[in-house]
Amino acid sequence: MPRTTVFRKSLKILRHISLYGIIFPYTSYAFYVSLKTNWEITKRKDDHTILKYTPLKICGRYENPFEEYRIQTVYEFFINRIIELFETNRGGIPIDQARMNTLMPIHKPTWTTTTSVNGVNTSKEILSDPIDSITLMDTFALSKNKDSTRSTANLDVTWLGQSCSFILYNNSLKILTDPLFTNFLISPKFGPKRITKLPCSIEDVPQPDIILVSHNHPDHLDELSLKTWANKENVTWIVPKGLGTFLKKNYDIKNYIELSWWQSAKITTKNLHKTYFVHCTPAMHWSGRSLLDSNESLWCTFLVKEQGCSQNFLFHGGDTGYVKDLFKMIRARYGDVKLAILPCGQYCPQWHQKPRHINPTEVLNIMKDLHAQNVLGVHWGTFVLSGEYFREPKEKLEFLAEWEGVSQNCYCPELGNTQQF
Ligand SMILES: [Zn+2]
Repeated sequence: MPRTTVFRKSLKILRHISLYGIIFPYTSYAFYVSLKTNWEITKRKDDHTILKYTPLKICGRYENPFEEYRIQTVYEFFINRIIELFETNRGGIPIDQARMNTLMPIHKPTWTTTTSVNGVNTSKEILSDPIDSITLMDTFALSKNKDSTRSTANLDVTWLGQSCSFILYNNSLKILTDPLFTNFLISPKFGPKRITKLPCSIEDVPQPDIILVSHNHPDHLDELSLKTWANKENVTWIVPKGLGTFLKKNYDIKNYIELSWWQSAKITTKNLHKTYFVHCTPAMHWSGRSLLDSNESLWCTFLVKEQGCSQNFLFHGGDTGYVKDLFKMIRARYGDVKLAILPCGQYCPQWHQKPRHINPTEVLNIMKDLHAQNVLGVHWGTFVLSGEYFREPKEKLEFLAEWEGVSQNCYCPELGNTQQF
């Protein structure tokens, strides 16, 4: 048989395989998931209880039960990647390093804010108060919040890039959010690299008591952190449903607790005998570390509160889109918030990003919906993963906050610089 005929025949077979083996089944699957999700959203429409936003699973994978959501198919994913190829100087990163250092100052973290005693600046001592027990609470047993004491405790917050922050509560409870200490997302050679240096290495971070992970995207959970704090004594990973299985299977991690939306964990400590609650709350996002495992585990936001206080001291926003009644519902159930750390970047182009990421205007909406006293805008200035100018999230958020008269309480921090609340 002539070579051209063999080539033509192989091409025909390949076309048949891709059409009938991949494209048709995938398109039918995506169409079915989309229809079923919309049907489920319509069914829940008039429900005004938390049942409206309980996790939705279709064909064994999680989906978003929000009207504002639109399913992202692999077609949309790749169309956007192709459009990106035609963008020049994406993110507008200056070539001049000195200019970059001025635009993005990086501080060596001290983890606590310093106090001035007789003109000498001293860092506060971090008290050792390891966790004694963590128990899962009955979701529907939560009584109405009767505590009336507003939190007067100190919060020292250090932003380390993307949604990774180190939070020290009352000089004792150490919380790390969405840990990320590598300079790349996929591999050192391939994929996005950090545009700003890490403020410190992972060894410099005080050992956290709890690590809150909002979802498993590589820019919210890196391998180095997984290996560093796998089965470390006095460290507990708190993760959304399904992610624990991933930790156990891939890293043999046993020191974790999995929470579904509206589930809570009760934490008691050994030395100071404190009690804290971590509430897992819904987010509009997705999950996956590769094309094949998308939505196998859940995504979420977290609230953290000390027993006896009316206010949650922390809301960890991770990565989420805006849902008009969701954050009001979270506040109605769990109370006001002292500090909300919210993502404010990765929103361009809006046609593609809106169902999964909030923009600065929506950050301010969430601040109002949650009755958050303070907001720190994060999830920008770390990698270029979207179309906006890399400093635009900060500039827009701070402009809007000024306009609304809340500039003292809503802004973007500098990397590594500890803020006190
Ligand atoms: Zn994400």
